[in-house]
Amino acid sequence: MRITKDPNKPDVFETNMMTANIGCNRCPNCGETRDHFKCLANGESGGISGGIYRSWTEGFFRMKSMRADCYKCYTCGTEWESEPYQWC
Ligand SMILES: [Zn+2]
Repeated sequence: MRITKDPNKPDVFETNMMTANIGCNRCPNCGETRDHFKCLANGESGGISGGIYRSWTEGFFRMKSMRADCYKCYTCGTEWESEPYQWC
């Protein structure tokens, strides 16, 4: 018997995602940390938007779904993405 999902622990893919995204919520160019949508709600321009990702498959005999989360800084226009990580 093997536990595949422990509700008390994030699963392996959530852990992959969190590790890959460390440091991504700060603009590498201007240091912006505000949330773009909160800025919009306050009538300000700028902030960082995330939530967009690109995905692809790797491997031939054993397919892996890979993903990288994309970010954009609306304050200075820089775009960046997380480290690629295995998603499923
Ligand atoms: Zn920026």
